[in-house]
Amino acid sequence: MVANCEQVWQEISNYIEGEVSPELRAAMEAHIRDCQRCTAVLDGTRNIVHVYADDRLIELPAGFSARWQRKLAESMPSPRGTAFGWLIAVAALALVSGSFALTGFGSPALTALRSHHAEPGIGVPPEMMVEIATDGKTFHVPGCKYLHKHEGEVRLLAASEAIREGYVPCVRCLRQYLNR
Ligand SMILES: [Zn+2]
Ligand SMILES: [Zn+2]
Repeated sequence: MVANCEQVWQEISNYIEGEVSPELRAAMEAHIRDCQRCTAVLDGTRNIVHVYADDRLIELPAGFSARWQRKLAESMPSPRGTAFGWLIAVAALALVSGSFALTGFGSPALTALRSHHAEPGIGVPPEMMVEIATDGKTFHVPGCKYLHKHEGEVRLLAASEAIREGYVPCVRCLRQYLNR
């Protein structure tokens, strides 16, 4: 059995959860060893899974699911039904498609995960775009549901700017950067 990239991506969540047949696992391992792209997909997916699986707290930003469920439905024939499976599938898809439109979840997050020793203090990448409410004290991943409890005007700006203005990271949507 020879696995190709597409097969690997489709089965990546099952693979990580140890739910593929020994035969398929061997084929996937053989492919991933020789394929840089799939190695990156596997690493990135594992990183995200690891961060979010710590306490199985899975919070998808608002507006996230409709858009991505559609995309996933088009490109992945049988994503698993659980939120956890979804998360893995979405993470894999974001990596696979090279489309990091998924705010707070794509390349800045992954870059931060990879280089988390480089930044002392606050772990939020300074160039990451975040949202603030002008009457709030915290900054958020755009679309965070805790942001929209505020009445004030919502502004999009770089994390470094928000920090300079005295805002602190939201512990819900930015928690992945804070547990260091
Ligand atoms: Zn591949
Ligand atoms: Zn938030």
